[in-house]
Amino acid sequence: MKSFKDSAILKALSFAAVVGVIFAVTISRHQRLAGSETSRLTQYVDPSVRPQDDFYRYANGKWLQSARIPDDKARYGSFYEVQERVEEQLTSIIKHVMDNHAIQSGTEEQKIRDLYTSFMDESTLDTLGHKPLLSSFEYIDAIHDATQLPGAMAQLARQGINVPLILFVHPDNRDSTRYASDLFQSGLELPDRDYYLKDGDDGSYKKIREAYVHHIVTMFTLAGLPQPEQSASQILALETALAQAHWDKITNRDPIKTYNKFAISNLNTVATQFDWTGFLQAAGVGGKTDYLLISQPTYVTALAKLTHTIPLANWQTYLKWKVISGAAPYLSKTFVDESFAFHGKAIRGTLENRARHKRGLDFVEDGLGEALGKVYVAQYFPKQNKDRMLALVNNLLAAYRQSIDQLDWMSASTKQEAQAKLAKLAVKIGYPDKWRDYSTLEIKPDDLWGNAIRASEFQYQYQINKLGKPIDRAEWQMTPQTINAYYNPEMNEIVFPAAILQPPFFDMHADDSWNYGAIGAVIGHEISHGFDDQGSQFDGDGNLRDWWTAQDHANFLAKTKKLIEQYGQYESVPGYHLNGQLTLGENIADLSGLSIAFKAYQLSTGHQSTAAANGFTGEQRFFISWATAWREIEREKEAIRLVTIDPHSPPRFRAAGTVVNLDAFYRAFDLKPGDKMFIAPDQRLSIW
Ligand SMILES: [Zn+2]
Repeated sequence: MKSFKDSAILKALSFAAVVGVIFAVTISRHQRLAGSETSRLTQYVDPSVRPQDDFYRYANGKWLQSARIPDDKARYGSFYEVQERVEEQLTSIIKHVMDNHAIQSGTEEQKIRDLYTSFMDESTLDTLGHKPLLSSFEYIDAIHDATQLPGAMAQLARQGINVPLILFVHPDNRDSTRYASDLFQSGLELPDRDYYLKDGDDGSYKKIREAYVHHIVTMFTLAGLPQPEQSASQILALETALAQAHWDKITNRDPIKTYNKFAISNLNTVATQFDWTGFLQAAGVGGKTDYLLISQPTYVTALAKLTHTIPLANWQTYLKWKVISGAAPYLSKTFVDESFAFHGKAIRGTLENRARHKRGLDFVEDGLGEALGKVYVAQYFPKQNKDRMLALVNNLLAAYRQSIDQLDWMSASTKQEAQAKLAKLAVKIGYPDKWRDYSTLEIKPDDLWGNAIRASEFQYQYQINKLGKPIDRAEWQMTPQTINAYYNPEMNEIVFPAAILQPPFFDMHADDSWNYGAIGAVIGHEISHGFDDQGSQFDGDGNLRDWWTAQDHANFLAKTKKLIEQYGQYESVPGYHLNGQLTLGENIADLSGLSIAFKAYQLSTGHQSTAAANGFTGEQRFFISWATAWREIEREKEAIRLVTIDPHSPPRFRAAGTVVNLDAFYRAFDLKPGDKMFIAPDQRLSIW
């Protein structure tokens, strides 16, 4: 159910991190700071660690000593503490719906109730066993010729099945006034192509491949299919062939390389022997567009070949496997447990599955996210939060405007372009002005897998319906109850869902230094995505256009090269270094976001050093706030998975890797040559 949505987001958005922060109650510079609040906010400081030697451990030492990862999680930290509260709030909303006996059929309440009911009714699922899969198996068995495979893939993709090729709709990056259909590589079960093609340090990828084969065998047996061992080796071979043709994560971050436009009449130049007509018809775009974008053309060429060189029977086995794997979380307990044993335990190292009612909540979130969000913001998001956040955003924008004018590495003409882009930046806070209309989505109380399929089809059709229509600027890519934020280069917008603007992130009693160090840095981070290695290739209208001079490019590249080297030296798990190129955009955003937030903080204090409270100056509180927002611990398998696929650096490196480049940090904590975190002034990096 997730694959379609995830691919679309992968291409369309530069995500913010899961941001852990404290929000400004006010941008007033005169706010008094009560002693007890400061001590609460500095409660994790470990005085036995020198901040000049290991700032992350200094700011979070006491938390690190006692923190443990709950059995049902692969990582834990500030973000997850907020997530737990939001889950309680959403649970109470669901409970209220379940207790209401006067719900009318066809309403959103009925849909929420029945979607949740279908998930919680385990006894029906245990009675059904693998039966919900049978109609899909019949559909796949009826494919009698390799030429039918493209159409079948498109058909299954509508149902949310993770097939090799996914179509999604988003603004055309060369003409941002219209929507385009885009094809994106997909179809792998393991987290990344590296898991198929490399062994990994200590053989960790290889071990996961071996576990994967056992997992398929178990699942095929549960699904009542013959020859599970033979099927498993065919599936691994087929996915490995796909993985070889997949573009890597770094290339996929390149908006120029992944923009490839083909007239429908010219698609045979990408792939011959591929039934494009059947594919486009089944995908629902036949006759609706005269061109396609293809993110990875060489992959599509290779895929088309594979549909003929790999026997049809193997493809059918593979497609059945995609159905089983996608459906498993929505079937009987044996399927659910086996799915978790592989995806939760073997890949991420999690010890136990999330409680059923929490997974039920996730399911409602996936299927009816904005219906749930509408109730959530009415109950838990006060209007004054939005006003205060807007004021803070405006202050950050003011600091950016000043900063751009003062850059010594950017030409005057490019500065003008940068200012123009900044002036066009749209800001969304809290929740959408216009909510998603779920009236055509049918939900039944006793058909869980059917509900999952219908919810995917509904989401898919929602995308397809955009073709030929004006760009919908009111749309949100995250629900209001999501604890995160994003910048979308295609719309040149920053978006902050309601859930991130609450305690402990939004703190009515925290002072400006804390708020600028946390949510202020997050706002700065999101704005910076408009000017990172990816975002800087788009203009203020969301079009791919080179608005830099050659000299600006050279200067920018030299700076980012240093950042690639810096983060490439960090080791997440022994043998697994960060990929400085993959994490570049996020590292630029962290560095820029924090330095602009500090400038905005200085604007708010009139550049006066603030009084010490409980032994910390305002500048020190700013940096401690930043570092505590990033407190997190991870299981080793999860850390390896993340270092392989995640464009964000692990939180402890985000905390420490930024501050060492900021002169203000050296002043705040009086760093001297010889301190472990000390970098010579001419080696420190400043971008914005
Ligand atoms: Zn980001």
